[in-house]
Amino acid sequence: MCGIVAYVGPRDAQPILLDALGRLEYRGYDSAGLAILNGHGVQVRKKSGRIEELAKACRAKPVEGRSGISHTRWATHGAPTDANAHPHLDASGKLALVHNGVIENYLELKDRLAKAGHKFASDTDTEILAHLVGDCFSQNQEKGEVRLIEAVRKALKQVQGTLGIAVIHSDLPGLVVGARRGSPLVIGVGNGENFLASDTQALAPYTNRVVILQDQEIVALHADRFEVASPLGQKADVRVEEIENGVTASDKGPHPHFMLKEIHEQAETVRNAFRGRLDADEATAKLGGLNLSSEDLRRVERIFVLGCGTALHAGMVGKYLIETLAKIPVDTQHASEFRYGDSPVHEKTLFFAVSQSGETADTLGALREAKRRGFRCLGICNNVSSTIARESDGGVYMHAGPEIGVAATKSFTSQVVIFTLLGLLLGRQRSLSAAHGREILEALDKLPDQILALLQESASIQRAATAYAKARSMLFLGRLANFPIALEGALKMKEVTYIHAEGYPSAELKHGVIALIDKETPSVLIATQDGVYDKNLGSLQEIKARGGPVLAVAHGDDAKVAGLADVVFRVPRTHELVQPILNVIPLQLFSYHMAVTLGRDVDKPRNLAKSVTVE
Ligand code: GLU
Repeated sequence: MCGIVAYVGPRDAQPILLDALGRLEYRGYDSAGLAILNGHGVQVRKKSGRIEELAKACRAKPVEGRSGISHTRWATHGAPTDANAHPHLDASGKLALVHNGVIENYLELKDRLAKAGHKFASDTDTEILAHLVGDCFSQNQEKGEVRLIEAVRKALKQVQGTLGIAVIHSDLPGLVVGARRGSPLVIGVGNGENFLASDTQALAPYTNRVVILQDQEIVALHADRFEVASPLGQKADVRVEEIENGVTASDKGPHPHFMLKEIHEQAETVRNAFRGRLDADEATAKLGGLNLSSEDLRRVERIFVLGCGTALHAGMVGKYLIETLAKIPVDTQHASEFRYGDSPVHEKTLFFAVSQSGETADTLGALREAKRRGFRCLGICNNVSSTIARESDGGVYMHAGPEIGVAATKSFTSQVVIFTLLGLLLGRQRSLSAAHGREILEALDKLPDQILALLQESASIQRAATAYAKARSMLFLGRLANFPIALEGALKMKEVTYIHAEGYPSAELKHGVIALIDKETPSVLIATQDGVYDKNLGSLQEIKARGGPVLAVAHGDDAKVAGLADVVFRVPRTHELVQPILNVIPLQLFSYHMAVTLGRDVDKPRNLAKSVTVE
């Protein structure tokens, strides 16, 4: 959603603000802007649309200056237009303000200010706040920086709502005042320079030292110092924390590990992956970032998905989705294999490179190879400023927020949602009926609530994890779209517990794997009710007949599976094609709880790196 970045220091503010705003792009936004002080008053540039539009405006008319504020807006009051983008100026034009949040009593304040002669240039609640602070500033008798700090304090007393703000005034160069109420703000502590941001991600390349402002606090930021004060004006204690990859340990919230936090975030991240992308009228999906016209998309005869590890598993679920919904044949391949192989590729093939970080070296290499061969290649990434995002011809962002746990969880479900949208979009351009399309849309819409319900099962999954933590080896089995879910379940298990685990299509049991079954080797079988449910029940019986314990992923009301399996991981029922997104979550939780039971380093498993930037 919205973002704030401010800078005070010896360097040129504009490139720093633009770069740092780019690091907040993953949150989603609709406009961007900045204001810089340079001895010629407040210079403002703002644009609706992507940060690149703002960057273009800044390239056309650069602003020099060493202190400034900037913003990415997610409109709540007024359309996403240039005029409504932040920063907003006060009546004197000397004060600029950016704001995250909502001013609830803005109409009342606007009325009062209008009666006093104020004229407004936008439809936002934020502009009212800028005028209010400006008014307080002009009425204040104080001198120097105190005048602006007190103006902010006085204005905030009159305001109801949530806010994170940053303010500058051309009479006070080298000063940024920030304040928060219900909306986060952190100070980035640099060497002879300081930053303010609504999210530590923005600061990652600039400093690893941050102060997290407490609610209601106000900060006065200079290049060489900052003072934090309570709402009543008393000096507040500050604690400098270190961040790693743009996050602090306190970002884990109430969860003991990032992996668990990220598993729990999935109700929200799944929603972020489809937010604004569902077209209920046409029963299809809207994916503007593909940079392909409807004609281009209709000409696609084949699809090739490249990825590694979890991202490849998402692509394998995507194969089922696209082949079923759009009837386009899909190949999936390990990016590393494609890169050096000579797989012949049909000339009307569209490539997808899938990578959470957007920096995976093998996937990047494969993308470059596909492009070298003249194919159009789209990216599915989480990190908007990544190399894959830059080098691909278009793509779809996940908007999942930073994933810190090395074992991927929320990025997987976001990737699968994106493949569902792609299947829907391509399908509706071909033979998929509106009625069927609508069923998928409705299923997606219900997913976040179903995920929340599913997460309530965590305690029972934890009990199963304690019971099976001594296993030396495990099997994960599923059919069709749930086969890659089995692969992903096995990969999670290996990554975080170091227990040997293999994923197979259930029917492969009898072709060799069944030799592994004994009472010490648990099998996790995905057996939700779908077109191959009876076949899965058959596999379940085969394992039980040989004395193997079975942990089944099944619908909550499925008495048959409950009667046969040793443990049931209960999942809510959804459309058969959307079901894999729910089915993977108990497997993530199972690996997580096993790893904790075994005392493993859950967020940083041995030998693994989050972003595999080497071959
Ligand atoms: N309410 C403000 C607006 O609509 C701020 C929105 C945001 O948080 O980006 O401009």
